[in-house]
Amino acid sequence: MIVDSLRLKFVKKALMAHKLMSHRRRNVILSEAKNPGERCGKVGDPSTQPSKFLGPKPKNLDGLAQDDHIKNMVNFKTIIILGRPGAGKGTQAALLAEKTGFRHLSTGDILRKRAKRQDNLGAKIKKLIDEGKFVSDEIILNVIFEAIKKAFQEGKKGVILDGLPRNLSQAESLSSFLKAENFENPLAINVNISNQEAIFRLTNRKTCSRCGKTIPYSEKTADLKKCPECKGKLITRPDDREEVVRERLKIYEEETALVIDFYKEKGLLKEVEGERPIEEIHRDILSLVS
Ligand SMILES: [Zn+2]
Repeated sequence: MIVDSLRLKFVKKALMAHKLMSHRRRNVILSEAKNPGERCGKVGDPSTQPSKFLGPKPKNLDGLAQDDHIKNMVNFKTIIILGRPGAGKGTQAALLAEKTGFRHLSTGDILRKRAKRQDNLGAKIKKLIDEGKFVSDEIILNVIFEAIKKAFQEGKKGVILDGLPRNLSQAESLSSFLKAENFENPLAINVNISNQEAIFRLTNRKTCSRCGKTIPYSEKTADLKKCPECKGKLITRPDDREEVVRERLKIYEEETALVIDFYKEKGLLKEVEGERPIEEIHRDILSLVS
C-alpha cells in the first residue's frame, strides 16, 4: 500500500511537471503566433509578454531553430497498439515497425534491455525482474520516455508502443510527455478481440523459457516442444493459467479499458477487428497509419 501511494504521488508530480512545462511552451508559441514578426508584442499585453517564471527564452523558440523543431514535431509519430491480453499487440507492432521503419517499443523488452545497462536504474530494474516483482509506473514511464527520445534523436520517424499505456495515469503522463517534447498527438489502435477469444489464446499459447518468445496457438504449433529460434524449452507461463488469465482480463477491464475511452474521447482512437488472420489485421493497421 505504501509503495502504491508513493507511486501515485510520483506519477501525479511527474504529470504536473509535464503539464506545467507543456503549458508554458504552448503559451510562448501561441503568443508568438499572434504577432508574427513582432515577437515582443505590446508592452503590458499579458498575452504577448513572456512570463517572469519562464526565465531565459528557450533557444529552440528562436528563428530557424524553432522552425526546425516544428518540422520535427510534425514528423514524429507515436502509434499505440491497444487490446486485450492475447490480442496480438506484439505481433502487430513488430509487423508495423518493419513496414514503417518506426521503432517498436515493447514495454517488456525495453525493461529487460534497460536492466542490462550498468547504472543505478539498470540495477534497480534487474533486481525487480529477477525477484519477479512489480515494476512501478515511475520506472516504466522513465524508461519508455527515454527510449522515445532516443528513437527521435536517432532519426526515427516514429515509435510504436506495445504494452503502454496500461492505465489512465500512464496515458495522461504519456500525453503530457509528448506535448512537452512537441511531438504529435499519438494515434491509438485498438485490436479488438472478445474475452472468450483472449482466454482461449492465452491459455493455449506457449512461451520459450530461455528467450521469452511467445508461440501463439495453432494446429501447426500445438505439438511444438522447443523454441524455433533458440531451442529453449517451451512452457505455459504461470500467468497464462486460466485462473490468472481471468484475473488479468478483469484488471484489463478495470484499467486498460479506461485508456481506450481516454483516446476515444480525444478523437485519437481507431478500432480494428482482431479475430482475423494476422496479415489482414496488419493491412488494416497499416492503412490507418499511412
Ligand atoms: Zn527461445
